Amino acid sequence: MSAAPKIVETKLAERANLYEVALRQTHKAAKAINLSPEVATILSQPKNEIITNFPVKMDDGSTRLFKGYRVQHNNILGPYKGGLRYHEEASLDEVKALASWMTYKCALAEIPFGGAKGGIKFNPRLHSQSELQRITRRFTHALGANIGPEWDIPAPDVGTNAQTMVWLMDTYMNVVGMNDKNAVKHVVTGKTVTSGGSLGRESATGQGVVHCIIEWARDQGFRLDGCTFSVQGFGNVGSHTARILSKLGASLVAVGDYRGYISNPEGINAHKLLEHVQKTGSVAEYRGAKSITRDDFFHVEADVFVPAALELEIGVEEAKALRCKLVVEGANGPTLPEAEDVLLERGIHVIPDIMANSGGVVVSYYEWLQNKRSEQWEAEEVEDRLERRMKRTYEQVKTFAENRSVDWRVASYGLALERIARVYEERGIFP
Ligand code: GLU
Repeated sequence: MSAAPKIVETKLAERANLYEVALRQTHKAAKAINLSPEVATILSQPKNEIITNFPVKMDDGSTRLFKGYRVQHNNILGPYKGGLRYHEEASLDEVKALASWMTYKCALAEIPFGGAKGGIKFNPRLHSQSELQRITRRFTHALGANIGPEWDIPAPDVGTNAQTMVWLMDTYMNVVGMNDKNAVKHVVTGKTVTSGGSLGRESATGQGVVHCIIEWARDQGFRLDGCTFSVQGFGNVGSHTARILSKLGASLVAVGDYRGYISNPEGINAHKLLEHVQKTGSVAEYRGAKSITRDDFFHVEADVFVPAALELEIGVEEAKALRCKLVVEGANGPTLPEAEDVLLERGIHVIPDIMANSGGVVVSYYEWLQNKRSEQWEAEEVEDRLERRMKRTYEQVKTFAENRSVDWRVASYGLALERIARVYEERGIFP
């Protein structure tokens, strides 16, 4: 362990500007594929940026004003698509970056959606269920016709879940008029299965992360059974990834979240840890592991590291410290570009976010299709389709990276940009 901990938590506002990071990544890929300057210009800013300040009554009778965002980056390939984040540090530039990544994620996965993202700047942990419901419903109302099943389709993200999506759906349904009520369920995905969600959607992002790890291991001749991994963030993505990887015989040796980090070289039981998190809200104080610092966490030896928390968690110091073979980005934008350079120089392979965590939006697409057709697909059908699509993307990115001698992030963005550029070329710019 290092003597003086250099690797400490910083506020999002103290990290790099996320939109600048997104632009730098896009420019690098655009250069590599010789993207037309017209398309590069169009993609350099979102189409629409909506900010709404809306009042909500709190349980104690007081009124509080909330700031909500919805950024619609691009819809050349289909309706805007992307999650809603409830976080106290949500900001316009953050949401803009996340929205642009959705455009590239959907293009890479070859699903007919564009990219969007939204959120509300507040800490959902400080509110009751009834306050969360009123905040969600009022935000949905404030967005009005800016969302719609064929226009812009939200989904869960950090700080939101299936219940949030059901409140959103119900609010939207009740304002479109009786006749259309049941025809608009697909205004949002990631709903509970009982209210129109898809089987397999909840675990889809984690499942997709694991498909990437399986493919990588196959390529490397690396055995997952008996290997070790660490996970940062134990929300939807982190917990499902840990659970599914454990089933394959991999051992979770370190994990952390907003309240603390823990490790156990003998392995941490992902199921028991999840029960603990459901009871206490955090991995901290879990009895089956010892508490460590953030600095220690990034020095833990593990074959695979899955960042599944917030953006820009891996800076240069973290990248120098990591002792792993593979980083699989379950989170969006967890790695600073300079830090990625360090990882690649050190021979650590990086599977980038728009590929690694695309399982969520892929199954969102299946949910959207099921709602449109009034169907309910079996779990196996959803799982098979997801597996095939993740493997296809993996092969495409790998081939692109090999043929053009570029890293996997450039390959992922490059593939996505080429697909978008082709459509702009065919359709031209109106009028
Ligand atoms: N929030 C998830 C993401 O970042 C899912 C988006 C969706 O399903 O639309 O990919």
